[in-house]
Amino acid sequence: MRFVLEKAMAQKMPVLFVGHGSPMNAIEDNAFTEALSGLSARLPRPEAVCVVSAHWVTSGSHVMASAHPKTIHDFYGFPRPLYEVQYPAPGAPDQAEKVARNPRITPDETWGLDHGSWSVLRHMYPKADVPAFQLSLDERRSFKEHLELGREIQGLRERGVLILGSGNIVHNLQRIDWDNSLGAYDWAMEFDSKVKAAVEAHDASTLAEPQKWGETLLATAHPTVEHYLPLLYCMGSTSGRDEVSYPYEGFDFGSISMRAILFGAPAIPSN
Ligand code: ZN
Repeated sequence: MRFVLEKAMAQKMPVLFVGHGSPMNAIEDNAFTEALSGLSARLPRPEAVCVVSAHWVTSGSHVMASAHPKTIHDFYGFPRPLYEVQYPAPGAPDQAEKVARNPRITPDETWGLDHGSWSVLRHMYPKADVPAFQLSLDERRSFKEHLELGREIQGLRERGVLILGSGNIVHNLQRIDWDNSLGAYDWAMEFDSKVKAAVEAHDASTLAEPQKWGETLLATAHPTVEHYLPLLYCMGSTSGRDEVSYPYEGFDFGSISMRAILFGAPAIPSN
């Protein structure tokens, strides 16, 4: 009876993808960070957040199991205040331990929260009072194998964990156009709109074969693919039954898509 009651009370969590963009978003106040700030109030409060960050690439899949994760400043050449940010959220070793029951995922106590996590979480949960942990990107996996691991972790949602993919739908730092702060190259808009259409159709297999949109288009949108991969974890852990909405859409400096995608929650009315 108690089991049934607990089952009934558990609320399946939505899944969120955030295009995090520049680390400066961690300390800036702009339309993107305002959208993040408003988002947490519209979501069920999670037991923990599991971040799949573009900035933790490993050989083999690792899950961060630290009880008190350090704040990692994994960027160079930014203003001093950014290096002074601390995000002291507790870890979620109990949740990490459950994830590590998957024989292909190794617990890791060396990592903490990188800026793919805290530059987003400090806007969503500024009190740092929601436990957070990370799942790494295994550099040896193919696109399809990343999608498959996303399917394997979908049970986190039933345990009250918010799965947060943190990357960018389009991410080419070599093509940054400082004179075009909110604009986009044609190829950036093309790649972003192809992803959007596939997400809306819940066409995970197409998203796991982005090279079929053209090798050149993929290589231009993502000279390296680590910022694309977190989306595949979001797709793997959701289904066509999860409503799709966009808490934020837009581009930064021509070559960065800042699109955020929310799966499995009522649409947020735009202002
Ligand atoms: Zn990044």
